Amino acid sequence: MPNLSEILFQLGEDGELSSSPVTPPIYQTSNFYFPKVSDLRKAFTNEFRTHIYTRGNNPTVEILRKKLAALAGAEDALVVSSGAAAMSIAVLAQVKTGDHIVCVKNPYSWTEKLSRIILQRFGVETSFVDAGASDAIIAAVQSNTALIILESPNTFTFEVQNVKQIADFAKSNGITTIIDNTYSTPIGQRCIEMGIDIEVHSASKYINGHSDVIAGVVIGSSTKISSIFQSEFMNLGVNISPHDAWLILRGLRTLPVRMRQIGESTQQVIAYLKSAHWVEKVNHPFEGDATKVDLAKSQMQWYGGLFSVYVKSDAIAAIEAFCEQLRFFKMAVSWGGHESLVMPACAFYDSDYSGMRKYPANLIRFSIGLEDANVLIGDMQQSAVVFVK
Ligand SMILES: *Cc1c(COP(=O)(O)O)cnc(C)c1O
Repeated sequence: MPNLSEILFQLGEDGELSSSPVTPPIYQTSNFYFPKVSDLRKAFTNEFRTHIYTRGNNPTVEILRKKLAALAGAEDALVVSSGAAAMSIAVLAQVKTGDHIVCVKNPYSWTEKLSRIILQRFGVETSFVDAGASDAIIAAVQSNTALIILESPNTFTFEVQNVKQIADFAKSNGITTIIDNTYSTPIGQRCIEMGIDIEVHSASKYINGHSDVIAGVVIGSSTKISSIFQSEFMNLGVNISPHDAWLILRGLRTLPVRMRQIGESTQQVIAYLKSAHWVEKVNHPFEGDATKVDLAKSQMQWYGGLFSVYVKSDAIAAIEAFCEQLRFFKMAVSWGGHESLVMPACAFYDSDYSGMRKYPANLIRFSIGLEDANVLIGDMQQSAVVFVK
């Protein structure tokens, strides 16, 4: 485990300033000037390591890049405008026409669309494989497989993959690995140490943690990150604003504290749910099948606050009433912020309840925020009266 105090409170913050602010400034500037042509010429030879233009590098963003790379135990990181952008540039940089990708089934929806809609148009095929079956993921590899995309756990049904086993296999077969590690954050699941090449995050969730920024992160070796920087990152223009980077720096400092609190509350809420008359099953990386739970606990250090339940009723009217009567859980997409959230799978259905049925109607997802656990349990109890015993 890296030195969290050193990384969160010191690393990268020793820039030369005329005074010594305890919080770094927001370099709200689009470009940087040079006194001499020779300096500018030199800067052009290595835009990755200098400040020329904020679509490339910016000092405020750079502090965040350094901290995130160090937290993951990696050489470098890019901070981008969204988690979707992070996955897009990381994947696009690894494949060419004729290549094949193995990806877990039901990953984050825009990861699936990237493969199924965009990459397919350019002659890159993807096999989607059961996310809970590491052996099946390895077995789906073909002679033209260039990339394996993992998401452990995924964020509706929480299947986990054996990250080290798959990373080892990929390495010995010359296949690149990318993992969406948003659920666990760079601290909570040490993917780079387990041999994964590229870690991708939505910083909109726990990393920022305050539901006020959309951002993403790509983490990996200097070689991989610099190559993504020189092409996909600069070309697609997915930089984050210095102001948003500054907000994330602020949020990041409390990440371990928030995760400790959220983990404790979530364990209390799940203990209640397991005894509640209206709940059939709780889906969380640390709940259910013993083999899965052992694997999850061997890879993940934190008890995450995002989970789902199957309720015993599949009466959609009751499920809708339950979600609408909650007072502290706000009904919304996303997760990982200060506020607790609820997201019923039936919201993905058409209004006549036909259409997309990736998940059964009795599936409801919760994200536990920073409210008191007893307040959250009380809220669920008062709303669950809609489920008659
Ligand atoms: C939210 C999310 C993303 C996408 O991130 P954005 O910042 O919303 O673009 C990707 N993966 C996972 C697991 C997510 O939860």
